[in-house]
Amino acid sequence: MPDAINQSDRIAKQLPPALAEFIKEAGRVAASQGQNLYLVGGVVRDLLLGRANLDLDLVVEGDAIELAQRLLQGKPGKITRHPHFKTARLQWDNMSIDLTTARSETYARSGALPTIGPGTMKDDLFRRDFTINAMAISLRPNRYGELIDLYGGRSDIEHGLIRILHEKSFIDDATRIWRAVRYEQRLDFLIERNTLRLLKRDVDMLDTISADRLRYELECVLHEEYPEKALRRAGELGVLQKLHPGLKGDEWLARKFEEARASAASYNLYLALLCYRFNANEIEDIVSRLRFPKPQAQVLRNVASVKSKLPALQEPELLSSAVYRLLHGYSHTAIIAASVASDSSIIRERLLLFLNTLRYVRPALTGDDLMEMGVPAGPRMKEILQRLHEARLDHKVRSKEEEADLVRRWLGSKK
Ligand code: ATP
Repeated sequence: MPDAINQSDRIAKQLPPALAEFIKEAGRVAASQGQNLYLVGGVVRDLLLGRANLDLDLVVEGDAIELAQRLLQGKPGKITRHPHFKTARLQWDNMSIDLTTARSETYARSGALPTIGPGTMKDDLFRRDFTINAMAISLRPNRYGELIDLYGGRSDIEHGLIRILHEKSFIDDATRIWRAVRYEQRLDFLIERNTLRLLKRDVDMLDTISADRLRYELECVLHEEYPEKALRRAGELGVLQKLHPGLKGDEWLARKFEEARASAASYNLYLALLCYRFNANEIEDIVSRLRFPKPQAQVLRNVASVKSKLPALQEPELLSSAVYRLLHGYSHTAIIAASVASDSSIIRERLLLFLNTLRYVRPALTGDDLMEMGVPAGPRMKEILQRLHEARLDHKVRSKEEEADLVRRWLGSKK
């Protein structure tokens, strides 16, 4: 192979020295056992693109688990084995390496997970999604750094194209539709013409994908640096609507995601904003379609509830205690989502007042203090504590002494 495509310089320049040294050593150890080891997938793509990537995938024509054990001997890291898939994950510091046995895959039916068999590096590359992800770099000592590019991945990187490897690719696994959109938007590439035609032809194959796999794809999109880009494109292609027909990847969403990033964007906040314009029924619909786990389901349901409180939050003369009563008990993320989504400054102000101040306010007097003052434990004490809390929220009292005076007045007037 010509020197121009030897990648050893890029490995040395772009990977942290400890990681580069580790994979070089791994190549030597594998070779000493008569096995070939390769760097594959995303990290090869990102090496060629000059992008940072510390999640390395290694493929061995041999036994990945045995090799992983050998490589970690005497090192402080952690190893997680998946014997069924013949894979192992090595982790130390902030680095992570997945070690997989080279395999071939066949699809029994569209959308199902593939049937896996042993294979060569060539088989292993053929099962991959796009040409840019289907390259490998040999780690064998006498071929160290050699690029294996069977499908023109390097040329597609140079031309900025996302291209599938064969015509049935989206039919075999329609999650690749989401992946195509995600890489296109992340890298500022274009989905290649024929790939785009097949994507449009096969968009309905997304109906064959399980809720868990679809949700995972959405999660990946929402973990991108600018998720709104992929959501916009997915909306244009009718891909987003396959998650729920009412979802929109429009200008409004882009603006709100940008605003969310200015404060504290997270997966849950993006999700809350994506579903913000849904009514309570639509929320239930998407929660069950995508089988969201409890934390996300709760945030989404809270979004619908907080939205229903917004008209009351707009009342001109509203005491802090009333703001508190309207909002307490709802998830922090749902309230932030409402503040980002709302265009009314008074609503935003009150939501933020609750988040930044009101939710922390507590009376200084405790139940024990009240007992010492002669209040019996029970409903009366509960009522007094609640009234004290409101008095604190509304600045009617500002110190423990003022609270005690107030309680004495209440007790006196009741007697
Ligand atoms: P990133 O993590 O930066 O999004 P990656 O390429 O590392 O990119 P992973 O999802 O970790 O992405 O997948 C690792 C590799 O496995 C990919 O590069 C690709 O070659 C292959 N792969 C992942 N998912 C699929 C799929 N659905 N079909 C075919 N190949 C896939």
